[in-house]
Amino acid sequence: MKFDPATNLFDSMELGVYNGVNHAINDSATFAFDSGEDMTACFNGEKNAFLYSRHWNPSGFQLSKSLSAMEGTEAAWVTSSGMAAITVAILQICKAGDHIISSVTTYGGTFAFFKNWLPKYGIDVSFVNITDLDAVKKAIKPNTKMIYTETLTNPMLQVSDIPELSKITKQHNLKLVVDNTFTPMIFSPYKLGADIVVYSMTKFINGKNDTTAGAICADIDFINAMIDLNDGTAMLLGPVLDSIRAANIQKNLFTLHIRMKQHSKNAMFLAEKFQELNLKVNYPGLKTHKQHELFKKMMNKEYGFGGMISIDLETSKKASKFMSEMQKQGVGYLAVSLGYFKTLFSNSGKSTSSEVPENIQKEMGMSEGLVRYSVGLDNDIEKTFKTIKSCLSNI
Ligand code: PLP
Repeated sequence: MKFDPATNLFDSMELGVYNGVNHAINDSATFAFDSGEDMTACFNGEKNAFLYSRHWNPSGFQLSKSLSAMEGTEAAWVTSSGMAAITVAILQICKAGDHIISSVTTYGGTFAFFKNWLPKYGIDVSFVNITDLDAVKKAIKPNTKMIYTETLTNPMLQVSDIPELSKITKQHNLKLVVDNTFTPMIFSPYKLGADIVVYSMTKFINGKNDTTAGAICADIDFINAMIDLNDGTAMLLGPVLDSIRAANIQKNLFTLHIRMKQHSKNAMFLAEKFQELNLKVNYPGLKTHKQHELFKKMMNKEYGFGGMISIDLETSKKASKFMSEMQKQGVGYLAVSLGYFKTLFSNSGKSTSSEVPENIQKEMGMSEGLVRYSVGLDNDIEKTFKTIKSCLSNI
């Protein structure tokens, strides 16, 4: 049988208390035990019960069950932001003296964590072009613990070859950690060979831009180790997702499959139109994209090529003028983040990738005039395109 993230997700749905169609929001920080012995047994790991909300809370638990059904993992744990998911997963695997290999193109916050923060604690990171598998192999050292990448990288939209990277990590006994924030449902990295899948749920998964949130999807052993009372990174650093937010995201998750299809449809339309205008456009759904075939090989077909596009306007001045014009004419918002129902756009080099030094931006091919779009759920995308065209003629 074919693995289908949306069907799995719907199969995971259970009725709430009193047969409510939604799960009751459980906003308790602590949970009562019938006896002191029961409480002791729970602390000793001999009894399975809700104990304290930083460890597990019922709303977060339900959302984690749904996410693991969608992803095909045994378990998941939900966090208060995407960065919390990324940093907890990494710190659970690595300690002082270890080495990480990371794609040089990642979200700017992740890049900054690798480049500026981890070295302070004795963890060394090598950055590579993740599409160059020989470079990845060459970067492996005796103390390497992990390869880190994004399935579709931010903002260069490079596709990581998860099955091939997985072969490398398995051969060398490393962990493959994949951020799938740009492509939920489109790719199922765990099924393709990743060990741990992280998400910023702030983006497509929640889709409402009303909160930050994150998730770590992995084997039960990894999730249990993360929330171990004595030395679990998640338990001891404490970036748990609030139960009210967890319950809200849970409801939004069940429309994700429809939203992803519409984001992809609209983005494909715009990418083709941008190409007709001879703009320098980067979209993995276009045949001109370097890893178009690889994307097709790895994707869950019905969800399309995703909602992220970039165009290169060469200078940041031009990009800035264009974005202001688009906001004025109602295309969407000049704002960071992505996965929203309205179209969002930003100039990556001066915003979400500003943590990446300019020389490295150049090295990875990021132009200072790169405008990244997160294409919205517009019903009339033709009208949106006409407006964008008129904005282009005004710069
Ligand atoms: N991963 C990717 C690919 C992102 O684009 C972002 C934020 O833009 C993050 C992780 C961080 O997520 P959050 O802002 O929820 O901490």
